[in-house]
Amino acid sequence: MEATALKPSTHSAADTPPSPVPLCDIQAQYRSLKDEIDAAVLRVLGSGQAILGPEVAAFEQEIASFCGAQFGVGCGSGTDALVLALHALGIGPGDEVIVPPFTFFATVSSVCRVGATPVFADIDPITFNLDPNLIEAKISPKTRAIMPVHLFGQCCEMDAIWQIAEDHQLFVVEDAAQSFGSEYKGKRCGTLGISACLSFYPTKNLGALGDAGLVTTNDLATDKKLRALRVHGSEVKYYHKFIGYNMRLDAVHAAVLRVKLPHVPRWLTAREAAAKRYDALIESANLHGFMRRPVVQPNRRHTFNQYVVKVPPAHREPLVKHLKDSGIGVEVYYPLSLHQQECFKFLGHRTGDFPTSEDAAASVLALPMFPEITESQQQRVIDVCAGYLRQAVRRAA
Ligand SMILES: *Cc1c(COP(=O)(O)O)cnc(C)c1O
Repeated sequence: MEATALKPSTHSAADTPPSPVPLCDIQAQYRSLKDEIDAAVLRVLGSGQAILGPEVAAFEQEIASFCGAQFGVGCGSGTDALVLALHALGIGPGDEVIVPPFTFFATVSSVCRVGATPVFADIDPITFNLDPNLIEAKISPKTRAIMPVHLFGQCCEMDAIWQIAEDHQLFVVEDAAQSFGSEYKGKRCGTLGISACLSFYPTKNLGALGDAGLVTTNDLATDKKLRALRVHGSEVKYYHKFIGYNMRLDAVHAAVLRVKLPHVPRWLTAREAAAKRYDALIESANLHGFMRRPVVQPNRRHTFNQYVVKVPPAHREPLVKHLKDSGIGVEVYYPLSLHQQECFKFLGHRTGDFPTSEDAAASVLALPMFPEITESQQQRVIDVCAGYLRQAVRRAA
């Protein structure tokens, strides 16, 4: 035996660099369901039906029944779903839609896409969702709809929003892109308005291989119009009742999503469990004075599409850098309130107009979150956060 072989290993546990923790591991679900997903893709390849067809029709029915809704209309993305839902209600030029300024861009761009005007109402500082107390002041004779966004996986305060909508004869259109499976008073997202927009972007609670989306509704006329609009506004091929779009859902995505759908309840439970572990880890690392944890409101099931904490604004960018340098995937959803975006300058807003949204944009941070995340990965994320804070305190001293 050579002498070198007897030397103690230089790779002790202590000096092995800790493995990185991704923000989201979308391959984990593929790995765990590979045979079924591969078979579903092959089934579509062999069927000769690439777009819509029986695979999409079956998927639409399964999603609708998961949500507790009557109808589901598949489309190309969550953004398509938003445009279709607004257009199907006849919302267009001259109309106003109330939206939060702290959301993904598509919530607001879709209002503009149909020719209507987005009107911002500021958010609640705890949930980051529309603050119902600030909606009524934004209603004008032109207002047609309120679009609550159930951000990060937690439903908006729907009782208050429904009351306002009823008092003023407005539609409620849910942006449920981040909250598939979330609940408000025992009712699932997708049934909390006249229609709801879902996204199956790969990182969402139910993720496709690429872009995919769907609108749910309980209203037969809306369902009919959605179906026409997504195929160029025709009910009978080549006869166009409306000027619609090409916003169809591909069969391959529907087939893959049908394989994944039965596993969603288990994945949502895993997300909730991971959120509870983060809560406990932040507490035991004594970070809770520095890092505000998500707050789950009563009567809601938060499905934690994202686990978003708030830190003092001066620490946000240095903490993001420290985490990234340590191999931890983090993201800022969203770094700029939408009223401050260059493309929405024409709305005439200024910094200071929506202070709670601006404060959120300066202080939020999403930690790694996916159903398969392990306790040791989460421990590492929080250790790295604690390491940052120790350094920061030392520097300040
Ligand atoms: C993801 C998302 C959308 C858009 O969905 P896509 O499928 O990416 O087009 C809309 N609104 C919110 C809040 C989202 O998170």
